Amino acid sequence: MPRLAVIGHPVGHSLSPQMHTAALREMGLAGEWSYEALDVPPDEFRRVIAGLPEGGFAGANVTIPHKRAAFEIADDPSEAVRAIGAANTLSFGGGRVAAENTDAPGLIASLPESPKGHRALVLGAGGAARAAAWALADVGAAVWIWNRTHRKTEQLASELRVRPVEPEATHRSLQLGRYEVIVNATSVGLGGSRGEGADLKALHLDADSFTERHVVVDLVYGASETELVRAARAGGAKVVDGREVLVRQGAASLRMWTKREPPIETMRQAIRQSDGREEASHGA
Ligand code: NAP
Repeated sequence: MPRLAVIGHPVGHSLSPQMHTAALREMGLAGEWSYEALDVPPDEFRRVIAGLPEGGFAGANVTIPHKRAAFEIADDPSEAVRAIGAANTLSFGGGRVAAENTDAPGLIASLPESPKGHRALVLGAGGAARAAAWALADVGAAVWIWNRTHRKTEQLASELRVRPVEPEATHRSLQLGRYEVIVNATSVGLGGSRGEGADLKALHLDADSFTERHVVVDLVYGASETELVRAARAGGAKVVDGREVLVRQGAASLRMWTKREPPIETMRQAIRQSDGREEASHGA
């Protein structure tokens, strides 16, 4: 019986076990495959990964803080993993560790239409921003990056060959009319809104600059809707919240391991039930 897991530290908050277990059940694989959470501190990561195949594991998702280490230990990192410098999906076989990054295709799959030929603004310059900017550029979007710390904007933009939003533009609010796709890949909004537009201010965004021309993705998700999601919806934008991206990256991992098509709607429902929010979390 092949085992699967999500490995993180801490990992107790992860919704992946519920989501994958529901999917395996729907796929008729629950008696064959299992999915669990493993809390592994950074100094034990290598040792634990090395022992997983022997323990019957066919693969694992990897989350904070191990995504970089997962790339470093891989025998066979994919092109996306090498470009992004981080992996979230490991597969074990033939004594080798293969690494993929499904955050990138997960983001693209969550969009209501292809971003090819569109202008995209990615907010942030951490790991999630890196995967988002690479994914959007890879499918043919023109990508700009804005980050609070401009030095990191420049570094990421030059590494990924995308465009930095210049610092003079960031003293004012960002001009959203220039973009069709906006992705929040910062941690602003995590832990709930701080009220009075503080989150939008931190991102240099005006609440009234969203229109029906925009697709807005907020990778952050939690117990309540983020300020960004609320403002984007109010402006008529098509909104994708972080749980939809979570579902899509999970589905891409599960497809890789089982070679079967995962049930997206079942995975969405499992997430909604697990985080206590029952309303629809995707689409406009
Ligand atoms: P990270 O590497 O720690 O990067 C954090 C980013 O947030 C940096 O760009 C940082 O800017 C920015 N930031 C933090 N506080 C800020 C503030 N007050 N004002 C403006 N910018 C601020 O984190 P990460 O791994 O990239 O993850 C970012 C978010 O994406 C997290 O909330 C994570 O949960 C989410 N995520 C979601 C999914 C999904 O499937 N939905 C997948 C991956 C990640 P500085 O460089 O200036 O510090």
